[in-house]
Amino acid sequence: MDYDAIIVGAGPAGLSAGAALARAGRRVLCLDRESFGGQVMNTEWVEDYPAPGERIAGPALGSQFVEAAAGAGAELELGEVTEIETYSGCRSVTCADGKTWTANAVIIAGGLRPKKLGLPAEDRLGGRGVIHCAFCDAGLYANRAVAVCGGGHAGLVEALLLAKHASRVHLLESQPALSAPPELQARARAEPKLDIRCGHRVAEIAGKDSVSAVVIENVASGARERLEVHGLLARVGFEAPTEYLLGVAPLGEAGCIEVLGDMRTEAPGIFAAGDIRCGSPRRAAAAVADGVRAAAAALAFLQSPL
Ligand SMILES: Cc1cc2nc3c(=O)[nH]c(=O)nc-3n(C[C@H](O)[C@H](O)[C@H](O)COP(=O)(O)OP(=O)(O)OC[C@H]3O[C@@H](n4cnc5c(N)ncnc54)[C@H](O)[C@@H]3O)c2cc1C
Repeated sequence: MDYDAIIVGAGPAGLSAGAALARAGRRVLCLDRESFGGQVMNTEWVEDYPAPGERIAGPALGSQFVEAAAGAGAELELGEVTEIETYSGCRSVTCADGKTWTANAVIIAGGLRPKKLGLPAEDRLGGRGVIHCAFCDAGLYANRAVAVCGGGHAGLVEALLLAKHASRVHLLESQPALSAPPELQARARAEPKLDIRCGHRVAEIAGKDSVSAVVIENVASGARERLEVHGLLARVGFEAPTEYLLGVAPLGEAGCIEVLGDMRTEAPGIFAAGDIRCGSPRRAAAAVADGVRAAAAALAFLQSPL
């Protein structure tokens, strides 16, 4: 066996699990398809995390998780896991580049990805006006107009972040009202650059080489309007990146992984932690707690696999 445990996803959940297992003297590999630290690295400020002060900078928090896991002896490697196979005493994990490792236990901590709008130009203009990370790319839209879809927590956080640089941020919510927490809505309504339009959705994205406009539609009347924007970011919900787990672990709504109380799944030797598991509160502190619980369950499994 190459490792005692392989962890899919090096965010708060995966790195906390990795740190706990490595501290217990286990051989651990944490794999991530993008970078190490997870979603908090793409978040300006993380609120509601138990740390000195009212909030902590996302990249600073993410770096702490990386240092904790690496410092404890977990190996960190870039690679997108595309296949997991289970055998009676072993699990094999394969990445998109063809690399394969074996381990006794696997912890899935792959987080969530934003849902797409499902519009034809969305993929074609990805990274060319269709924004995936406001924190990473906001500076590219300085003094330009952008649109954000989604009136929930994530949509408003991203819209307020973009408003620091953009000349105008059109915030579009297809429902009649925003669903973000009231204090966030109050901040959004106080931001003069935000143009909040409930009951509207994006019907078309225009642009040949990059986004030049969006056509929005009034959901009730069907009336359409063209907004000249250089950027569009969608935060209309999240889904779990678990296509490769079909038939491996039990999946629930939007692809989330069904877990028992201690983060075990019904598949022997497969555990899940963090945002990706069904019922997650989707907060960084909760992901850390999940990671620690999954590590404890994996340790018990390693000691007594049956
Ligand atoms: C805009 C925004 C603001 C937020 N603000 C806050 C806040 O203020 N406070 C708070 O507590 N929480 C906040 N959150 C939520 C918080 O970021 C998450 O709850 C937390 O990051 C979840 O940790 P995780 O480890 O489960 O998943 P993630 O942090 O998403 O990490 C999962 C990792 O898995 C990797 N991965 C996925 N699939 C694969 C695969 N197949 N192979 C290899 N790697 C894979 C991904 O690349 C990613 O790095 C916010 C989230 C967003 C989007």
